[in-house]
Amino acid sequence: MSQNDHLQVDLKTWMNKIIYIYWFMVGLAMTGQLLGLVMALMHELYTFETYFIYKLVLPSTFQIFVIGLATYFVRVRRMYSPRVLTILGVIAAWITVYTHAGVPGLQVLFVILMAVNLIYFNKTELKFSFLVNIIALLLLYTVPKVRLNASVFESFSYFFMLICAYYVFRLVLDRGTDILNVLKRSAEQERSLMVKSAMMERLTKVDPLTELYNHKTFYEYLDFLYDQSIHYNMPLQLAIIDIDNFKQINDQYGHSVGDVILKRVARIIEENVTENEIVARYGGEEFAVLLTSKSEDDSHELIDTIREKIATTVHDEIQGYITVSVGFQPLNKTLTQELFFDHADDLLYKAKRAGKNCVMRPLKEEGYI
Ligand code: GH3
Ligand code: MG
Ligand code: MG
Repeated sequence: MSQNDHLQVDLKTWMNKIIYIYWFMVGLAMTGQLLGLVMALMHELYTFETYFIYKLVLPSTFQIFVIGLATYFVRVRRMYSPRVLTILGVIAAWITVYTHAGVPGLQVLFVILMAVNLIYFNKTELKFSFLVNIIALLLLYTVPKVRLNASVFESFSYFFMLICAYYVFRLVLDRGTDILNVLKRSAEQERSLMVKSAMMERLTKVDPLTELYNHKTFYEYLDFLYDQSIHYNMPLQLAIIDIDNFKQINDQYGHSVGDVILKRVARIIEENVTENEIVARYGGEEFAVLLTSKSEDDSHELIDTIREKIATTVHDEIQGYITVSVGFQPLNKTLTQELFFDHADDLLYKAKRAGKNCVMRPLKEEGYI
């Protein structure tokens, strides 16, 4: 989800909340008008009919229509326009102030509507709301009964309040942006620390030359898989792969060529195993593979295929081939973890003695299985 999508989702949620605020204001206005009806009748300011129609039914109907329209746009048409919502909100407020021109202070409603606009956290939207509200206030003073009901000082004070509130709200937005930037910076720092610590963790687990697991990680996996296999009787085999006559390659072509070949052999091993196998660089030119998901014969076949792939890969640097010898040991309940490894190592040396470029597995009569 992009940042814009997030903002869009935010906008939807918050515009729905603004609709609630609008309906709350309409509800309050109607309650006020009902109370006003009682007061007006008690003090005989209006006849029941005049108040009921002109101060209650007509303005409330208008307001319900305007806020109903806003609700329709947002909820039904899914039209998320802050400006349309601002204009409709101001119209509803205008109806209240106009209807009760004799009630001093109702003009503050325009300031409240501008405050609602703070929700968008956007200076342009705030400016728009300020303009709409100031126009609404100006329009109000074109109505003679409003002008008659308010003194010049009082009228000026509403404009003054609206302008002051606008500048205060701008400051609030600036301060909010400030805080947001601080939060953003600390989130960025946190992210870069996470990346660094992930890199550090990788460095402690992985051999930098071949990018395979290192010696230490190999033993962590061996510990875990050995225990698991013994407890749950799950298959586990270990293959130790050693490059044949590697010293000669270093001596003849140089250490850097040796490194290139080491990396290539690592890739061949890695590319031919599944995610169920753990491949590590056990030592200088030795690799260890822990096989966890196959039968002994299938694993042996896989390791022999890898040996064959290595033996048939041409290395341009030396214009020739290299081979590997492998000791392959399946786990059985009679083996301790140390013996499991030592047997694989013994089999490796047996493979070397047998002429190299082969995979040596235990024979039943040798007592390894
Ligand atoms: P064998 O067939 O018996 O395994 O003979 P070998 O020459 O491979 O074995 P030996 O143990 O005598 O030599 C291993 C060589 O591997 C010696 C060392 O210089 C080389 N080696 C170990 N680590 C690295 C490395 O990171 N890079 C390079 N280029 N060479 C390495
Ligand atoms: Mg070796
Ligand atoms: Mg070797």
